[in-house]
Amino acid sequence: MDLQTFCQELPKLELHAHLNGSLSRSTMTFIKRFLALTGMADESDVFLDEFQVGPSDTKNLSDCFQVFDIAHKLTITKETLTMATALTLREFERDGCCYIELRSTPRQTAHLTISEYIETVVQSMKSARERGLICCFIISINRNSSKEDADVIVDHAIEYHTKYPDIVVGVELSGNPAVGMFQDFVPALDKARKAGLKITLHCGEICNTQEVIEMINFKPERIGHGIYIHPKFGGNDTTWDLLRNSRIPVEICLTSNVNTKSTPDFNSHHFKEFYNANIPVVLCTDDKGVFSTSLSQEYHICGETYGIEQSKLARLSLKACNYIFAEDVRKILTEKILNFINKNEL
Ligand SMILES: [Zn+2]
Repeated sequence: MDLQTFCQELPKLELHAHLNGSLSRSTMTFIKRFLALTGMADESDVFLDEFQVGPSDTKNLSDCFQVFDIAHKLTITKETLTMATALTLREFERDGCCYIELRSTPRQTAHLTISEYIETVVQSMKSARERGLICCFIISINRNSSKEDADVIVDHAIEYHTKYPDIVVGVELSGNPAVGMFQDFVPALDKARKAGLKITLHCGEICNTQEVIEMINFKPERIGHGIYIHPKFGGNDTTWDLLRNSRIPVEICLTSNVNTKSTPDFNSHHFKEFYNANIPVVLCTDDKGVFSTSLSQEYHICGETYGIEQSKLARLSLKACNYIFAEDVRKILTEKILNFINKNEL
Protein backbone atom coordinates (compact mmCIF):
# COMPACT_ATOMS: atom_id res chain seq x y z
CA MET A 1 0.00 0.00 0.00
CA ASP A 2 1.39 3.45 -0.81
CA LEU A 3 2.04 5.70 2.18
CA GLN A 4 -0.79 8.12 1.45
CA THR A 5 -3.45 5.39 1.19
CA PHE A 6 -2.00 3.68 4.26
CA CYS A 7 -2.15 6.87 6.38
CA GLN A 8 -5.72 7.48 5.30
CA GLU A 9 -6.88 3.91 5.98
CA LEU A 10 -5.05 3.41 9.27
CA PRO A 11 -7.58 3.83 12.13
CA LYS A 12 -6.25 6.86 13.99
CA LEU A 13 -6.88 8.59 17.31
CA GLU A 14 -6.96 12.39 17.53
CA LEU A 15 -6.11 13.55 21.04
CA HIS A 16 -5.14 17.20 20.55
CA ALA A 17 -7.58 19.20 18.43
CA HIS A 18 -9.00 22.61 19.30
CA LEU A 19 -12.55 22.87 17.98
CA ASN A 20 -12.35 26.45 16.71
CA GLY A 21 -8.87 26.03 15.17
CA SER A 22 -10.04 22.84 13.46
CA LEU A 23 -12.76 24.49 11.37
CA SER A 24 -12.05 23.84 7.72
CA ARG A 25 -12.58 26.43 5.02
CA SER A 26 -15.72 24.59 3.91
CA THR A 27 -17.13 24.52 7.46
CA MET A 28 -16.49 28.24 7.84
CA THR A 29 -18.10 28.95 4.47
CA PHE A 30 -21.08 26.79 5.47
CA ILE A 31 -21.52 28.77 8.71
CA LYS A 32 -21.04 32.12 6.95
CA ARG A 33 -23.68 31.08 4.41
CA PHE A 34 -26.06 30.08 7.23
CA LEU A 35 -25.58 33.48 8.92
CA ALA A 36 -26.22 35.28 5.63
CA LEU A 37 -29.37 33.27 4.88
CA THR A 38 -30.81 33.76 8.35
CA GLY A 39 -30.06 37.47 8.32
CA MET A 40 -27.71 37.29 11.30
CA ALA A 41 -24.71 39.60 11.54
CA ASP A 42 -21.48 37.89 10.50
CA GLU A 43 -18.99 39.43 12.90
CA SER A 44 -16.03 37.43 11.63
CA ASP A 45 -15.60 40.10 8.94
CA VAL A 46 -12.58 38.49 7.26
CA PHE A 47 -11.44 36.87 4.10
CA LEU A 48 -11.17 33.12 4.76
CA ASP A 49 -7.52 33.22 3.69
CA GLU A 50 -6.77 35.13 6.86
CA PHE A 51 -7.72 32.05 8.90
CA GLN A 52 -4.87 29.92 7.58
CA VAL A 53 -1.22 29.97 8.62
CA GLY A 54 1.17 28.24 6.24
CA PRO A 55 4.86 27.33 6.66
CA SER A 56 6.16 30.35 4.74
CA ASP A 57 3.74 32.72 6.44
CA THR A 58 5.15 35.63 8.42
CA LYS A 59 2.79 34.93 11.34
CA ASN A 60 4.37 33.48 14.49
CA LEU A 61 2.90 31.64 17.50
CA SER A 62 1.57 34.82 19.16
CA ASP A 63 -0.08 36.00 15.92
CA CYS A 64 -1.87 32.66 15.65
CA PHE A 65 -3.91 33.35 18.75
CA GLN A 66 -5.49 36.31 16.95
CA VAL A 67 -6.40 33.99 14.07
CA PHE A 68 -8.53 31.85 16.42
CA ASP A 69 -10.69 34.88 17.21
CA ILE A 70 -12.03 34.68 13.66
CA ALA A 71 -13.56 31.26 14.32
CA HIS A 72 -14.74 32.37 17.76
CA LYS A 73 -16.86 35.03 16.08
CA LEU A 74 -18.64 32.33 14.06
CA THR A 75 -19.36 29.82 16.83
CA ILE A 76 -21.54 32.15 18.88
CA THR A 77 -24.99 30.59 18.54
CA LYS A 78 -26.36 27.15 19.29
CA GLU A 79 -26.88 26.51 15.57
CA THR A 80 -23.42 27.57 14.40
CA LEU A 81 -21.64 25.81 17.29
CA THR A 82 -23.59 22.63 16.48
CA MET A 83 -22.61 22.93 12.80
CA ALA A 84 -18.97 23.57 13.71
CA THR A 85 -18.80 20.54 16.02
CA ALA A 86 -20.73 18.17 13.76
CA LEU A 87 -18.88 19.08 10.55
CA THR A 88 -15.47 18.96 12.25
CA LEU A 89 -16.15 15.52 13.72
CA ARG A 90 -17.33 14.31 10.32
CA GLU A 91 -14.12 15.54 8.69
CA PHE A 92 -11.96 13.72 11.24
CA GLU A 93 -14.06 10.59 10.71
CA ARG A 94 -13.66 10.81 6.92
CA ASP A 95 -9.93 11.12 7.45
CA GLY A 96 -9.95 7.71 9.15
CA CYS A 97 -10.16 8.75 12.81
CA CYS A 98 -11.95 6.24 15.01
CA TYR A 99 -11.65 8.23 18.24
CA ILE A 100 -11.58 12.00 18.71
CA GLU A 101 -11.07 14.18 21.75
CA LEU A 102 -12.08 17.72 20.78
CA ARG A 103 -11.16 20.56 23.10
CA SER A 104 -12.65 24.01 23.47
CA THR A 105 -12.92 26.86 25.96
CA PRO A 106 -16.62 27.28 26.77
CA ARG A 107 -17.37 30.94 26.13
CA GLN A 108 -20.25 33.13 27.09
CA THR A 109 -21.48 34.81 23.90
CA ALA A 110 -24.37 37.16 23.10
CA HIS A 111 -26.46 34.03 22.43
CA LEU A 112 -25.03 31.34 24.73
CA THR A 113 -24.16 30.93 28.40
CA ILE A 114 -21.12 28.83 29.38
CA SER A 115 -23.49 25.97 30.28
CA GLU A 116 -25.27 26.23 26.93
CA TYR A 117 -21.94 26.23 25.10
CA ILE A 118 -20.94 22.96 26.78
CA GLU A 119 -24.39 21.40 26.38
CA THR A 120 -24.40 22.27 22.64
CA VAL A 121 -21.03 20.59 22.02
CA VAL A 122 -22.09 17.57 24.11
CA GLN A 123 -25.37 17.14 22.22
CA SER A 124 -23.54 17.33 18.91
CA MET A 125 -21.13 14.66 20.14
CA LYS A 126 -24.01 12.48 21.32
CA SER A 127 -25.43 12.56 17.77
CA ALA A 128 -22.02 11.61 16.33
CA ARG A 129 -21.78 8.75 18.84
CA GLU A 130 -25.17 7.47 17.72
CA ARG A 131 -23.65 7.17 14.25
CA GLY A 132 -20.83 5.10 15.77
CA LEU A 133 -18.07 7.67 16.12
CA ILE A 134 -16.45 7.70 19.56
CA CYS A 135 -15.79 11.32 20.50
CA CYS A 136 -15.14 13.14 23.74
CA PHE A 137 -14.91 16.70 25.02
CA ILE A 138 -11.94 18.21 26.84
CA ILE A 139 -12.83 21.53 28.46
CA SER A 140 -10.11 24.15 27.97
CA ILE A 141 -8.90 26.81 30.34
CA ASN A 142 -7.28 29.72 28.55
CA ARG A 143 -4.06 30.96 30.14
CA ASN A 144 -5.18 34.54 29.76
CA SER A 145 -8.13 34.02 32.10
CA SER A 146 -8.13 34.99 35.77
CA LYS A 147 -7.98 32.43 38.58
CA GLU A 148 -11.66 33.17 39.22
CA ASP A 149 -12.63 32.56 35.59
CA ALA A 150 -10.62 29.32 35.56
CA ASP A 151 -12.52 28.25 38.64
CA VAL A 152 -15.85 28.93 36.92
CA ILE A 153 -14.78 26.83 33.91
CA VAL A 154 -13.67 23.95 36.14
CA ASP A 155 -16.93 24.03 38.12
CA HIS A 156 -18.79 23.70 34.82
CA ALA A 157 -16.45 20.92 33.68
CA ILE A 158 -17.15 19.00 36.89
CA GLU A 159 -20.89 19.53 36.55
CA TYR A 160 -20.93 18.22 32.98
CA HIS A 161 -18.49 15.40 33.73
CA THR A 162 -20.95 14.23 36.37
CA LYS A 163 -23.83 14.56 33.91
CA TYR A 164 -22.06 13.07 30.87
CA PRO A 165 -19.07 11.06 32.22
CA ASP A 166 -18.52 9.31 28.85
CA ILE A 167 -18.26 12.58 26.94
CA VAL A 168 -16.77 15.29 29.19
CA VAL A 169 -13.55 13.50 30.11
CA GLY A 170 -10.85 16.08 30.74
CA VAL A 171 -9.61 19.59 31.34
CA GLU A 172 -6.67 21.22 29.62
CA LEU A 173 -4.64 24.43 29.86
CA SER A 174 -3.90 26.28 26.62
CA GLY A 175 -3.67 29.73 25.06
CA ASN A 176 -0.76 32.08 24.51
CA PRO A 177 2.15 30.54 26.49
CA ALA A 178 3.69 33.97 26.97
CA VAL A 179 0.65 35.00 29.03
CA GLY A 180 -0.27 33.84 32.56
CA MET A 181 1.46 31.55 35.06
CA PHE A 182 0.87 27.81 35.41
CA GLN A 183 0.96 28.00 39.21
CA ASP A 184 -2.10 30.26 39.20
CA PHE A 185 -4.15 27.48 37.61
CA VAL A 186 -3.00 24.63 39.85
CA PRO A 187 -5.85 24.95 42.40
CA ALA A 188 -8.49 24.80 39.62
CA LEU A 189 -6.73 21.89 37.88
CA ASP A 190 -6.39 20.07 41.19
CA LYS A 191 -10.10 20.46 41.79
CA ALA A 192 -10.86 19.04 38.32
CA ARG A 193 -8.55 16.09 38.91
CA LYS A 194 -10.11 15.29 42.28
CA ALA A 195 -13.52 15.17 40.55
CA GLY A 196 -12.23 12.48 38.17
CA LEU A 197 -11.34 14.60 35.13
CA LYS A 198 -8.09 13.83 33.29
CA ILE A 199 -5.60 16.64 32.70
CA THR A 200 -3.49 17.65 29.72
CA LEU A 201 -1.30 20.77 29.61
CA HIS A 202 0.25 22.70 26.73
CA CYS A 203 3.83 22.46 27.91
CA GLY A 204 7.17 23.81 26.65
CA GLU A 205 5.79 25.85 23.76
CA ILE A 206 8.26 28.61 24.61
CA CYS A 207 11.51 28.54 26.58
CA ASN A 208 10.42 28.47 30.24
CA THR A 209 12.22 25.63 32.03
CA GLN A 210 10.81 26.55 35.43
CA GLU A 211 7.27 26.14 34.14
CA VAL A 212 8.11 22.87 32.36
CA ILE A 213 9.43 21.50 35.67
CA GLU A 214 6.30 22.63 37.54
CA MET A 215 4.05 21.11 34.89
CA ILE A 216 5.76 17.72 34.77
CA ASN A 217 5.81 17.58 38.58
CA PHE A 218 2.04 18.17 38.50
CA LYS A 219 1.86 14.78 36.72
CA PRO A 220 -0.80 15.50 34.09
CA GLU A 221 -2.09 12.47 32.13
CA ARG A 222 -0.60 14.03 28.97
CA ILE A 223 1.22 17.14 27.78
CA GLY A 224 0.93 18.95 24.45
CA HIS A 225 3.90 19.85 22.19
CA GLY A 226 6.83 19.55 24.64
CA ILE A 227 9.17 21.54 22.41
CA TYR A 228 11.50 23.29 24.89
CA ILE A 229 12.27 20.22 27.00
CA HIS A 230 15.21 18.41 25.39
CA PRO A 231 18.56 20.28 25.83
CA LYS A 232 18.92 20.42 22.02
CA PHE A 233 15.60 22.25 21.71
CA GLY A 234 15.91 24.89 24.43
CA GLY A 235 15.31 22.71 27.49
CA ASN A 236 18.02 21.37 29.82
CA ASP A 237 19.11 18.08 31.40
CA THR A 238 16.70 18.56 34.31
CA THR A 239 13.60 19.04 32.12
CA TRP A 240 14.60 16.17 29.81
CA ASP A 241 15.33 13.74 32.66
CA LEU A 242 12.07 14.69 34.36
CA LEU A 243 10.05 14.00 31.22
CA ARG A 244 11.83 10.72 30.48
CA ASN A 245 11.32 9.44 34.00
CA SER A 246 7.70 10.65 34.17
CA ARG A 247 6.58 8.51 31.18
CA ILE A 248 3.96 11.22 30.47
CA PRO A 249 2.68 10.86 26.87
CA VAL A 250 3.33 13.84 24.61
CA GLU A 251 0.85 15.03 21.98
CA ILE A 252 3.05 15.87 18.97
CA CYS A 253 1.76 18.40 16.43
CA LEU A 254 4.30 18.52 13.59
CA THR A 255 2.69 20.96 11.12
CA SER A 256 1.49 23.26 13.89
CA ASN A 257 5.01 23.59 15.32
CA VAL A 258 6.52 24.30 11.90
CA ASN A 259 3.81 26.75 10.77
CA THR A 260 3.99 28.73 14.03
CA LYS A 261 7.82 28.86 13.68
CA SER A 262 8.19 27.06 17.02
CA THR A 263 10.33 24.61 15.02
CA PRO A 264 12.30 25.69 11.90
CA ASP A 265 11.29 22.65 9.78
CA PHE A 266 10.16 19.02 10.03
CA ASN A 267 13.72 17.69 9.93
CA SER A 268 14.71 19.66 13.01
CA HIS A 269 11.54 18.80 14.95
CA HIS A 270 11.97 17.12 18.36
CA PHE A 271 9.75 14.16 17.36
CA LYS A 272 12.67 11.92 16.38
CA GLU A 273 14.51 12.66 19.62
CA PHE A 274 11.43 11.71 21.64
CA TYR A 275 10.67 8.64 19.51
CA ASN A 276 14.21 7.30 19.80
CA ALA A 277 14.23 7.91 23.55
CA ASN A 278 11.03 5.86 23.83
CA ILE A 279 8.99 8.76 25.21
CA PRO A 280 5.30 7.90 24.68
CA VAL A 281 4.14 10.07 21.77
CA VAL A 282 0.91 10.49 19.83
CA LEU A 283 0.57 12.38 16.54
CA CYS A 284 -2.12 15.07 16.56
CA THR A 285 -3.25 18.00 14.41
CA ASP A 286 -3.72 20.83 16.98
CA ASP A 287 -5.64 23.13 14.58
CA LYS A 288 -6.24 21.37 11.29
CA GLY A 289 -8.19 24.32 9.86
CA VAL A 290 -5.64 27.00 10.68
CA PHE A 291 -2.67 24.88 9.61
CA SER A 292 -4.45 23.24 6.68
CA THR A 293 -3.60 19.68 7.68
CA SER A 294 -5.29 16.40 8.64
CA LEU A 295 -4.30 13.56 10.93
CA SER A 296 -3.49 11.30 7.98
CA GLN A 297 -1.26 14.06 6.62
CA GLU A 298 0.56 14.24 9.99
CA TYR A 299 1.20 10.46 9.83
CA HIS A 300 2.36 10.87 6.24
CA ILE A 301 4.81 13.64 7.17
CA CYS A 302 6.06 11.54 10.07
CA GLY A 303 6.60 8.47 7.88
CA GLU A 304 8.29 10.40 5.11
CA THR A 305 10.44 12.80 7.16
CA TYR A 306 11.71 10.37 9.80
CA GLY A 307 11.70 7.21 7.68
CA ILE A 308 9.22 5.44 9.95
CA GLU A 309 7.82 2.44 8.15
CA GLN A 310 4.13 1.59 7.95
CA SER A 311 4.21 -1.16 10.61
CA LYS A 312 5.72 1.34 13.06
CA LEU A 313 3.27 4.10 12.14
CA ALA A 314 0.46 1.62 12.83
CA ARG A 315 1.98 0.92 16.24
CA LEU A 316 2.08 4.64 17.00
CA SER A 317 -1.67 4.68 16.51
CA LEU A 318 -2.05 1.44 18.50
CA LYS A 319 -0.09 2.81 21.47
CA ALA A 320 -2.22 5.98 21.47
CA CYS A 321 -5.08 3.76 22.75
CA ASN A 322 -3.26 3.69 26.10
CA TYR A 323 -3.21 7.48 26.37
CA ILE A 324 -6.86 8.29 25.66
CA PHE A 325 -9.02 9.78 28.40
CA ALA A 326 -12.08 7.55 27.83
CA GLU A 327 -10.59 4.44 29.42
CA ASP A 328 -13.71 2.33 28.82
CA VAL A 329 -13.22 2.32 25.03
CA ARG A 330 -9.49 1.45 25.06
CA LYS A 331 -10.18 -2.22 24.43
CA ILE A 332 -12.51 -1.65 21.46
CA LEU A 333 -10.05 0.75 19.82
CA THR A 334 -7.06 -1.49 20.46
CA GLU A 335 -8.88 -4.40 18.81
CA LYS A 336 -9.86 -2.25 15.84
CA ILE A 337 -6.26 -1.19 15.18
CA LEU A 338 -4.91 -4.71 15.80
CA ASN A 339 -7.39 -6.00 13.22
CA PHE A 340 -6.03 -3.48 10.71
CA ILE A 341 -2.45 -4.51 11.55
CA ASN A 342 -3.23 -8.22 11.16
CA LYS A 343 -5.30 -7.76 7.99
CA ASN A 344 -2.48 -5.87 6.34
CA GLU A 345 0.26 -8.11 7.81
CA LEU A 346 2.07 -5.15 9.33
ZN1 LIG B 1 -2.96 23.12 21.08
